Amino acid sequence: MTLIDQIYIDGAFVTPHGTDLFDLHNPATAQVIGQLRMADAIDAEAAIAAAKRAFASFSRSTKAERIALLHRLADTLDKRREDLIEATIEEYGAPISRSAWMADYAVGAFRLAAQVLEAYDFTRQIGTARVTMEPLGVVGIITPWNANAGFIAGKLAMVIASGSTCVIKPSEMSAIQTQIVTEALHEAGVPAGVFNIVTGRGDVVGAVLSGHRDVAKLSFTGSTATGRAILRAGAESFKRVTLELGGKSPMLVLEDADFGAAIPFALNAGFMNSGQACIAGSRILVPASRLAEFEAAISEAIAAFPSGDPRDPATAIGPMVSQRQWDRVQSYIAKGLNEGARLLTGGEGRPDGTQGGWFVKPTIFSDVRNDMTIAREEIFGPVLSIIPYADEEQAITIANDTDYGLHAYVAGRDEDRARSVADRIVAGRVIINAAPMEMSAPFGGFKHSGIGREGGSFGLEAFLEPKAVMG
Ligand code: NAD
Repeated sequence: MTLIDQIYIDGAFVTPHGTDLFDLHNPATAQVIGQLRMADAIDAEAAIAAAKRAFASFSRSTKAERIALLHRLADTLDKRREDLIEATIEEYGAPISRSAWMADYAVGAFRLAAQVLEAYDFTRQIGTARVTMEPLGVVGIITPWNANAGFIAGKLAMVIASGSTCVIKPSEMSAIQTQIVTEALHEAGVPAGVFNIVTGRGDVVGAVLSGHRDVAKLSFTGSTATGRAILRAGAESFKRVTLELGGKSPMLVLEDADFGAAIPFALNAGFMNSGQACIAGSRILVPASRLAEFEAAISEAIAAFPSGDPRDPATAIGPMVSQRQWDRVQSYIAKGLNEGARLLTGGEGRPDGTQGGWFVKPTIFSDVRNDMTIAREEIFGPVLSIIPYADEEQAITIANDTDYGLHAYVAGRDEDRARSVADRIVAGRVIINAAPMEMSAPFGGFKHSGIGREGGSFGLEAFLEPKAVMG
């Protein structure tokens, strides 16, 4: 049993004022593996005060100092790579290969921020005005459980690059991963108070950050419902916000698509991170003329995406993070059946050979209409919907007929045609034919998928505000 009973304030590990305990689980066994002593509102206040004190000097640090610091953070985090991978498997249930990717992504976030900072000019002349990009002050960072280290690192890296300071409130369900990340960041010798980590409940610690007058900006990744609550709470003190929220991303399989390539692309996009991904391509739009062919091919290909023990290198889909998440996914599978979608593969219950843990059968429905609940709401599990379409015009209409606009995917042989379809999709990012992610491109969503962008210079500017001096 692991006991996490310290938080990180003003450059030191301290015992929280809060005394409530939270059970940590191994999702592959559903067993309790540890406990977290949670921070409370008083801890959040102390962390904000430390970040405010640190801002006075850190906001005047030089670009070179911050670049060096970002590289040190990458180095110290990289040294804990194996520990982080182990914790991500144990506490989150991510398959081995995904856990390794997640650890490397977090390290890479610091290196990328250093590169962006290197190239960024904080001062420019506009007419007679000298315009400087100023750091905002204390930033409240609130993150979810589905990529704990990556979200902490990505946001913290840009806060540091900007010269701001922060208080981080990670998900309470990722406390072991957070502990490793915090120890690694501490090793880098960051000036006291520049970052503080107070893990506690969202409606306690998160609520203090969202409403506090001394917090200038909130950077949040999580559900659309919580994003809305944070936006309301921040309005009182005119907080700047970056909200990275949910998605219901379309995978448009065009008429000329090569299914040999399109199907692995669709399954990888749909089942990434065990389906617990905001950018999952969960609506697969298929030409009605090729529906039977597509169904046959995807039913066969799904064998390469087994759900099971995250420590088995062959596993593609790990367990859901919690009983609550398992129940939620099961309820959506039941809704799909009730609303008349046709089950192609998977279904309710646990996959054969698993027991105890929160495992879900990789599930694909066909004949889904875009007005069915499974096509409208984010499921956050390995459940995909095939939606047939008559022609390209209708495919684009269906793709855009959603409250969300985070991501989209297009598969097609004719690349010009695929690009012209991509241009008409309302989404923050579109990936054509499994092209690799460009990490320095902006990331974020249209509509209910959020406000603002992360990544690259757009991500840095999210923590800066222009100031013009004339004369
Ligand atoms: P969540 O919204 O329940 O929780 C996210 C964080 O917010 C947690 O740290 C939680 O403790 C905190 N929180 C909860 N209530 C709060 C409140 N009232 N005030 C302040 N903070 C509060 O989301 P989750 O279940 O942890 O994560 C899953 C969701 O995250 C999914 O909807 C998914 O789409 C979204 N997500 C989005 C992205 C993205 O970049 N767009 C990435 C990953 C996950």
